[in-house]
Amino acid sequence: MKKITVAGMGPGRESMMTNQALDALDAADVIVGYTVYLDLLGERFRDKTKLSTPMKQEAERCRMAFREAVKDKNVVMICSGDAGIYGMASLMFEIGEEPEFADEDIDIEVIPGITAASSGAAVLGAPLNHDFCVISLSDLLTPWELIEKRLRAAAEGDFAIAIYNPSSRKRHDYLQKACDILLETVEPGRACGYVRSIGRDGEEYFTCTLAELRDIEVDMFTTVFIGNSRSRVIDGRLITPRGYRL
Ligand code: SAH
Repeated sequence: MKKITVAGMGPGRESMMTNQALDALDAADVIVGYTVYLDLLGERFRDKTKLSTPMKQEAERCRMAFREAVKDKNVVMICSGDAGIYGMASLMFEIGEEPEFADEDIDIEVIPGITAASSGAAVLGAPLNHDFCVISLSDLLTPWELIEKRLRAAAEGDFAIAIYNPSSRKRHDYLQKACDILLETVEPGRACGYVRSIGRDGEEYFTCTLAELRDIEVDMFTTVFIGNSRSRVIDGRLITPRGYRL
């Protein structure tokens, strides 16, 4: 049976990939992915055939992977973090339904990776150590009204929140807009933090209050953490108590 593996590569460092993902890449004939991630793979996979498409041509990238699998190639599609968290895993299944591929017997295997919420939380301390939500501020694929609704619901439920895609060139004020929505019900002193370039050169982390976060400009390589009502900063790290010391 023909097969495509969809693998998450974690935040960007080989030591933070699973052995399962590394084994799949070792066995691959073709690695498909966004160029930035193909470059992050580095020396170990330099002899592999690598295929890519520019950003916003994700569906075409998936079709490329399917066409290689049809030719009996061992194909691995890589995504940053976890392929099933704002990644390509679901799109791969959807593309598999298209008439061009529907009659091919191609199995899709998904290999998990460490998502930015998890790797970033580890850098910051333990900000997600209770119920939490993950919300992306990108309105490319989600209407902004729905993002606002989810932010309000997360605040209402007193969830700790990991925010992905907090900014981009066109959306430099989205984090500010998100903080304003949270500040409707959350106190300005709420403990927050953010981590830039997790697992990559230049990794750095900061803690701040929600009011301070509102006025901070972050870039798209940053994951933002909003604490819940019990979160606090201990020794410069952001901690959400599990409740053991109640
Ligand atoms: N599938 C990825 C997420 C892709 S969405 C995952 O599971 O991690 C892209 C967003 O993820 C970025 O805007 C940023 O908010 C976050 N992100 C991914 N990798 C990151 C890294 N190495 N450092 C900081 N943030 C990262």
